[in-house]
Amino acid sequence: MNREWHAAHPMPERATFEQRVAWHREHAEACGCRRPPARIAAILAGEQRDAR
Ligand SMILES: [Zn+2]
Repeated sequence: MNREWHAAHPMPERATFEQRVAWHREHAEACGCRRPPARIAAILAGEQRDAR
């Protein structure tokens, strides 16, 4: 677990869905201690497909 990244990137108290997607997008690259919820994982997977 990337403790430094987590300390620098707390999840906002009342995060919008877009904020949660952005948080998990950065989290997946920096850490990966837990998987994002299925709905968010699907969006991130779709972005990776589009980027190719
Ligand atoms: Zn983490």
